[in-house]
Amino acid sequence: MSEKPMERLDRRDFMIASIATVGASAALVAGAGTADAQEAAAVSANPGAGTVYTGDMIRGKKVVSALDVNDLEAGQKHLLYFQGVEAPTGQHWYVSVTVAKGAKPGKRIVLTSGVHGDEMSSIHTVQTVMNQLDPAQMSGTVMAVTDVSRPALESMQRRWPNQGRGIDLIDMNREWPGNENGLTAPSRHAGLLFNRLLRPNADAAIDFHTGTTGFEVSAFNIGETERPEVKAMLDLYPVGQILNMPKAAYPTVLHNAFIDAGIPAFAPEIGAARVLNYEMIGLFVEGTMNVLRHHGILAGSMGRTGKDIAVFVGNSGFPVLATAGGLVEHLVKLNDKVEPGQKVAIQRNSFGEVVAEYTSAVAGEVMGQRCDAMSEPGNPLVLVLFNKPTPDGVEIYPE
Ligand SMILES: [Zn+2]
Repeated sequence: MSEKPMERLDRRDFMIASIATVGASAALVAGAGTADAQEAAAVSANPGAGTVYTGDMIRGKKVVSALDVNDLEAGQKHLLYFQGVEAPTGQHWYVSVTVAKGAKPGKRIVLTSGVHGDEMSSIHTVQTVMNQLDPAQMSGTVMAVTDVSRPALESMQRRWPNQGRGIDLIDMNREWPGNENGLTAPSRHAGLLFNRLLRPNADAAIDFHTGTTGFEVSAFNIGETERPEVKAMLDLYPVGQILNMPKAAYPTVLHNAFIDAGIPAFAPEIGAARVLNYEMIGLFVEGTMNVLRHHGILAGSMGRTGKDIAVFVGNSGFPVLATAGGLVEHLVKLNDKVEPGQKVAIQRNSFGEVVAEYTSAVAGEVMGQRCDAMSEPGNPLVLVLFNKPTPDGVEIYPE
């Protein structure tokens, strides 16, 4: 029943957990050896080296193991499979590639979804954009890869069930830019995709996500507003929040791998995992079509942008963590403004007694909420987007 001034302590624990996770991935990649790194660098230093058809067909679609969209016929849509990493059975994980190749040359934009396997609205957003494109009217190329982490998608879960030493679950958005000779299948898959499919065909890139199972988020974009080319794209979305997240917070996520390769990129977040949120999808489709107009790929006037709504920009996420077990009742909604000390949730035990009350320690806007109704101690219950005076780039958002 007590007001627990524990947010500060809990938040630090949350930060430490995040660092440990990221650090573990980085150590594995580093352990793969410098010879491998050199080989990967040699491959990626030669983008656009040409399209390689394996000779296979899957359900009437040609299979490629490398793609240069310049090789494809202009003014058409092309549906291909890209041959990803080889699995224990000797078969490969293929990913679905849609290319809308404009009749006229121009910029090349890459859209990705499914890096996490439970994020359905991200896939539907990309599909909807691609279905609206008419290559005959386009100047430039849009390539979509909708099912990046195939094994995770097969079970509609966030992480890739890796087989190396018994099953372990690997977050593919801690693996980029990957390593074609890495220790795990997700690392090798990321390396193949990044070197032979994504990077060579991107002048700009957007990697679509949603919240995760059990934790829903608002409609917002993650990107560094200090980068003019990124900010120009972020400003074209009629969505209410931007998380200005420094690259240092999560260097191995896909959109930051693009940034490291000199390619402007960011990551939309589209509501809850596992479901389709059509209202939010519509906002991100509208924004993405604006981005294609911004790059001259589509003609015509802009739809609604960030100028048409109130956009809240923050540089940090403040997690309010559960300190007890029990049912959680939220007292605020996504996008609500909150003040320091404002009560945001309560929790009841199995008798219905209130065992915890939770407050925000910062002023900001609600960007995420636990949507599984029961929680144990340590789970984030509410995430508040706010502006930290001196951002440290550590705790932010469990992207
Ligand atoms: Zn995600």
